[in-house]
Amino acid sequence: MRENRWQGNSVGGSWRDMTLDNARNFAAQALELARQASALGEVPVGAIVVHQGRVIGQGHNQPRALNDPTAHAEIMAIRAACAALGTDRLAGCDLWVTLEPCAMCAGAIAHARIARLHYAASDPKGGAVEHGPRLFQQPTVLHKPEVYAGVGEADAAALLKAFFVERR
Ligand SMILES: [Zn+2]
Repeated sequence: MRENRWQGNSVGGSWRDMTLDNARNFAAQALELARQASALGEVPVGAIVVHQGRVIGQGHNQPRALNDPTAHAEIMAIRAACAALGTDRLAGCDLWVTLEPCAMCAGAIAHARIARLHYAASDPKGGAVEHGPRLFQQPTVLHKPEVYAGVGEADAAALLKAFFVERR
């Protein structure tokens, strides 16, 4: 279920000014953060929050380093972005992440009122957007971002696969 998959053109909506080059650039920045996580022995997922074309928060998975099971890339990026803007709401912001968010992160994205969620690889096991609980499709969800999947998918998926093969 990927109604908003990139086709190499704009996808319409409030997002129509973003070019595919911009999208690839943001996806690449999230991927670089995922690489940093991998180098630290953390599951390679990276995320950035973009406000008016500028990155205002970034993060990668680091639950092991922080002894914090909530230290997922999206949570780290949202915390940094909220601190940067001095607010608990990220209305109008885009969140870019290399992997389909889990239920916890999808919940945080709703609480933060993120306008648009972009994720690279899908996660049939742990994802909660197009898999599992499909949080944004539930009638009780607080806020439903626009969802775009697939930009940078191959690189993000390859990085995750390599990480888990190494640790088998
Ligand atoms: Zn998560």
